[in-house]
Amino acid sequence: MSFTRPNIIRPPSEWKSYFLPLTGGCSNNTCAFCGYYGSRLQVRDIDDVKQEIDALALFTRSGVRLPDLPRVVYAVAQGWDGKRVFLQDGDALVYPFPKLTEALQYLDEKLPSVERIGTYATPQDILRRSTDELKELRRLKLGILYTGLETGDDELLQEIGKGVTPGELVEAGKKVKEAGISFSVTVILGLGGVERSERHALETARLLTGIDPNYAGALTLTLIPGTPLYEQWERDEFHPLSPFQSLEKLKLIIDNAGFTDCFFSSMHASNYLSLRGRLPQDRQRMLRELEVVLAARDPSLLRPEFLRGL
Ligand code: SF4
Repeated sequence: MSFTRPNIIRPPSEWKSYFLPLTGGCSNNTCAFCGYYGSRLQVRDIDDVKQEIDALALFTRSGVRLPDLPRVVYAVAQGWDGKRVFLQDGDALVYPFPKLTEALQYLDEKLPSVERIGTYATPQDILRRSTDELKELRRLKLGILYTGLETGDDELLQEIGKGVTPGELVEAGKKVKEAGISFSVTVILGLGGVERSERHALETARLLTGIDPNYAGALTLTLIPGTPLYEQWERDEFHPLSPFQSLEKLKLIIDNAGFTDCFFSSMHASNYLSLRGRLPQDRQRMLRELEVVLAARDPSLLRPEFLRGL
């Protein structure tokens, strides 16, 4: 079956990367809020991957464009500085390990200027790999893994179909850090709806403390048509947080999560307010910024609904 190249969905920090698809869809397609819900996992042929690497190397070396490659390859390659590669798609770490090492080795051989490779990974993908395997990937320049934790609330994790426990999330984080790979995680404000928002925020802060990641990002729940959570909302069984309720929970997380040294941000386009800082040192400044907005309750201080993105 032919491989359909996925659209580019990437972490904000990967904006300078070349996007190399290894898979399509997500292997854990059961998360009730996610656009990948029900997606079919596609695994790209390794020869196809190598062909794209060859074409990219040729283009960066001599500007030659091959006619049979999709336009997007050159659209991305044109402004690329040769330093970072992001492996698509929803969890490219699921790519069979021998083929993954083969792809990374080939990248290194053909494009030695690449300094860091990143990818999304489900907690299950990480737990499936041994620490030695992760170290091998680190040696081959896999420098950062992005994982959606979503919540630290055990019951909510099961209800949304994440398929892991908070303990397993902590275990996955430990493995990534032991392998020397940076760990970047996201949590979703408002995922528990109004009724469970307090517990969701406090348990999420506790989970973040347990993992102590290098980077943590807060996203704000966006209901996506076609997902089970959207259907619950349509049936009035799920009650989303208001923008200010969502910011109150962000404050609770920042106030309660104990980090050693973490770059924390709510810069993602889904958020009503962009905040960034290094925790713990910037905690008081970030809390003050939130307090000012929460006290004013002025909607013009927030990103308008129509500008929020996924
Ligand atoms: S949240 Fe992550 S693991 Fe769940 S379906 Fe979406 S991409 Fe897959």
